[in-house]
Amino acid sequence: MSLEEDIEREVAAATLQAMSGGNEPERLNELLVLLERTAQSLLDRHQREAPPATPLHCKEGCTPCCYTKHILLTPPEALLLLGMIETCGFRFAVTLAARSTRPGCPLLDHLGQCRFYAHRPLMCRAFHSLDVEACKKGVGEEGMDVPIWPPHFEIYTHIQTGLARGMMEKGLAVPQLDLRKVLGMEAPTRLLWEQWLRGENPFELARME
Ligand code: SF4
Repeated sequence: MSLEEDIEREVAAATLQAMSGGNEPERLNELLVLLERTAQSLLDRHQREAPPATPLHCKEGCTPCCYTKHILLTPPEALLLLGMIETCGFRFAVTLAARSTRPGCPLLDHLGQCRFYAHRPLMCRAFHSLDVEACKKGVGEEGMDVPIWPPHFEIYTHIQTGLARGMMEKGLAVPQLDLRKVLGMEAPTRLLWEQWLRGENPFELARME
């Protein structure tokens, strides 16, 4: 079995486990923290065995890829992020920003920094570049053409796929969601959690096209 299949299978199993025994939001939050640690240790291993030709330029505060038009995320990522935004008192402001024509992610603050960097979706973690100048040139373009280090992108996408597989095995709706549309939703997060955990799909309007 390949490493990719291993990641997806193990993440799917961990997701199913997190979804049994109640208090799903808290347990899924813990799972995402654990998955980030797992991704980092896999990346460290790849770095030791076959490092990229040049170092990754990505770090907190570097935001050209935050002008990408569509960021894909899964329902649990969406719900946990919305919950954090709500807890911090930014839900209304973020909803307005998501519905505006302002370019860039609605989570960028007035200084152009990600307000929820520690809670960003897996796809934001997957994005990376070996050339920051190429990122700056490609700002806002569909499918930015930047040199990447494949293991970095693949590890996060396999984690996201494993997460989705676990949800599907649990019988939950797992539409592919668009970050901007998710952030533009108005329903309280608690209600969205309840509907989604009942097997409904409260995200119809936030689907990725
Ligand atoms: S969530 Fe944060 S890191 Fe992701 S696109 Fe939005 S501002 Fe950028």
